[in-house]
Amino acid sequence: MSHFSFTQRSGCSEILELLDISNLLVLNDTVARKTNAWTKHEAISVILSHSQSAEELLKRRKVTRESILKYLTEHGMAVSTSSSKQQLIDDALLYWIQPLATSSHLLPFQLSAETARSVTPLVHSSSPTQTTSSPGTFPCNRRVCNTCRFTSSLDFIQGPNQSFQVQQRFTCTSFNLVYCIRCFRCQLLYIGETKRRLGDRFAQHLRSVRTNQPGVPVAQHFNSPSHSESDLSVLGLLHCHDYVQRKCEEQQLILHLGSLHPSGMNIDMSNF
Ligand SMILES: [Zn+2]
Ligand SMILES: [Zn+2]
Repeated sequence: MSHFSFTQRSGCSEILELLDISNLLVLNDTVARKTNAWTKHEAISVILSHSQSAEELLKRRKVTRESILKYLTEHGMAVSTSSSKQQLIDDALLYWIQPLATSSHLLPFQLSAETARSVTPLVHSSSPTQTTSSPGTFPCNRRVCNTCRFTSSLDFIQGPNQSFQVQQRFTCTSFNLVYCIRCFRCQLLYIGETKRRLGDRFAQHLRSVRTNQPGVPVAQHFNSPSHSESDLSVLGLLHCHDYVQRKCEEQQLILHLGSLHPSGMNIDMSNF
């Protein structure tokens, strides 16, 4: 009955979480045609199972423009605060297909005309935020941060296999994401995922490089001949919703970019 991708389901669920319980219960009654939910969690699950698609659900009057805007902003999307609700819905639908679209070799599907229609620029030309919210990874500028100087604002990564266009914005304090460590000297890549802040996870990598920790691929590479820690750079690739999505995107990106040893620094699909 319902046609949600995994990513759409998890994204819609986060948007519904942002609604007031009163709005949510009215929405529950409308889509399920009866009152059978008493908590937010129950209502969200009933609403999702009774909705035809993410677009149909988001278009409902009770799903507020503000909740979609808040969701997109929290996920680091460059959206204009003056966007209409329909523009925000299009941005959300695009955001949810991006991770899949980057791995087209794994997903032999054609984008329908309907989906293509929703592929609009993320930053509308009139947006005042255009220059301040361009994609890439930027220093957090906290007073004590060891990661700032290693961030790379690159928004295009070329791997030995395929390339990846970064569409989102990150800083050292971004969390719940898939990231990339790149060697300046030889462009070798390591793809990882973390629930924690990028800066905290990177600090762990940096320590392993400084101590030349045995058995850690990143540490070994930056201690190899003619390398030093100044060849390290780190950047965010994708904001994620949860553990399952992080692992799934991480593994797809390792294959897509081609970062497995020896053409990259990933030893196996689950290696830290
Ligand atoms: Zn920082
Ligand atoms: Zn290198």
